[in-house]
Amino acid sequence: MYPKLIVNINKLKHNSITINNLLVKNNINSSFLVTKVLSGNKKIVEKFADTGFTHIADSRIDNLKTFKDIPLPEVLLRIPSLSEIKDVVKYADVSLNSELQTIVELNNQAIIQNKFHQVILMFDLGDLREGLFFKEDYLETAAIILKLAGIKLIGIGTNLTCYGGVIPTRKILNELITIKNNIESNFKIKLEIISGGNSSTIPLLLKNNLPKEINNLRLGEVIMLGRETAYGKIVDNLYADAFTLQAQIIELKEKPSYPIGELGMDSFGEKPNIIDKGIMKRGIIAIGKQDVNLDNLTPIDQNVEIIGGSSDHLICDLTNTNYALGDIIEFNVNYPGLLQLMTSKYITKVIM
Ligand SMILES: *Cc1c(COP(=O)(O)O)cnc(C)c1O
Repeated sequence: MYPKLIVNINKLKHNSITINNLLVKNNINSSFLVTKVLSGNKKIVEKFADTGFTHIADSRIDNLKTFKDIPLPEVLLRIPSLSEIKDVVKYADVSLNSELQTIVELNNQAIIQNKFHQVILMFDLGDLREGLFFKEDYLETAAIILKLAGIKLIGIGTNLTCYGGVIPTRKILNELITIKNNIESNFKIKLEIISGGNSSTIPLLLKNNLPKEINNLRLGEVIMLGRETAYGKIVDNLYADAFTLQAQIIELKEKPSYPIGELGMDSFGEKPNIIDKGIMKRGIIAIGKQDVNLDNLTPIDQNVEIIGGSSDHLICDLTNTNYALGDIIEFNVNYPGLLQLMTSKYITKVIM
């Protein structure tokens, strides 16, 4: 049944192995496979998780639950909610954190469950999403965490290019190294993990400009779609098309390209902006905004042009093509599109 999202596992494996080789060459001895775009799909994740990653990382506990038989430690990426502390300790070996109150609650739960819970303390170096602000007095916070019997502070990390679009540089990441040095010398400890970011740190790594103390990255998009996220370039030797969307033509007719009558709003309450191109061969494809934001799709056939759509319909200009009713149109997807398609229960996921 269409629509189908075709997953090419060999391409995912290739991307994973290539990136993990690059990390190892640069003394990055731990790497988190960030699966949050795959909506907890164990069948996909288990087929390529064994390609050099040291951990599986996801932002949702529900997804981590489904991965519990995969033999890698699990990391909760999103800062835990106070309402999910019990499950965080139960299903995640590690969590990223920025709130002392939350860490104290994790400690209480860890003691109840007779476990150690590992914490990576996040620092906000200016992107303004999660993390202790780097100019704060973090030593006080660290002192309290280090006294908690159920918590093991295994490292520190930062997340950039997520809210503010801040691009990682050597200078910015050196702040994290300063924090590492201060914590280590103050408390006479060694932090195992210095996590230098996500797929947006890859360009810095490729330029050999990553501070040598950074020994961990958390990677999603560069693995799934071969794309670094500082400048949005496909990384050399990686596949950008491990995922392909296929959907079927349900109507194919010659019609005018400009609507007839007085124009109000479209089905999503927006004023349509339509160009009159005369009579056009129009195809309706059976997929819609309920499944994916249509801007996130790119037809693989360059003669196909997306001209609009609604919740369940995608309308394409097929004037320069020979498609027939029932034919399949293929699309490349970007990372937000992949997230939406994986999450939609109406899309059949096919592993190749
Ligand atoms: C999503 C996420 C990542 C991975 O980001 P990519 O750009 O997909 O590599 C890493 N760390 C955190 C905290 C995240 O939320």
